[in-house]
Amino acid sequence: MHEMSIIAGVLDTVTPSARQAGAERVLGISLRIGDMTEVVDEALEFAFEVLTEGTLCEGAQLTVTKVHPRSVCFECGCEFDHDRFHRSCPACGSFQTQVVQGRELEIESIEVDLPDEAAEPGASADRRS
Ligand SMILES: [Zn+2]
Repeated sequence: MHEMSIIAGVLDTVTPSARQAGAERVLGISLRIGDMTEVVDEALEFAFEVLTEGTLCEGAQLTVTKVHPRSVCFECGCEFDHDRFHRSCPACGSFQTQVVQGRELEIESIEVDLPDEAAEPGASADRRS
């Protein structure tokens, strides 16, 4: 399943950086996904649930922002919105077009739960005089 590998890739990025920041838990992950990637929301949520089980990201809120496809025409320079299946230029009918937006697969932001600064390791009071 396409979505499983997407989420696995996201977690490969999120988990180490959350750990590096000293986070105990990841609270939320926001993704930007272009419609051209043909990602199915339900499958993505399912993959997220399955793959985060028992990890730092378990229970995190997954937010997905969909990016509508947009292309530019090489013939007339027209820039236009379209769906996944129709990519010909609406102005001149050319098929010489290039997708400029809609293939995104990015992590927009992550929200983590940081422990209190007071709980810093090494700052405990076992020094006696
Ligand atoms: Zn055109």
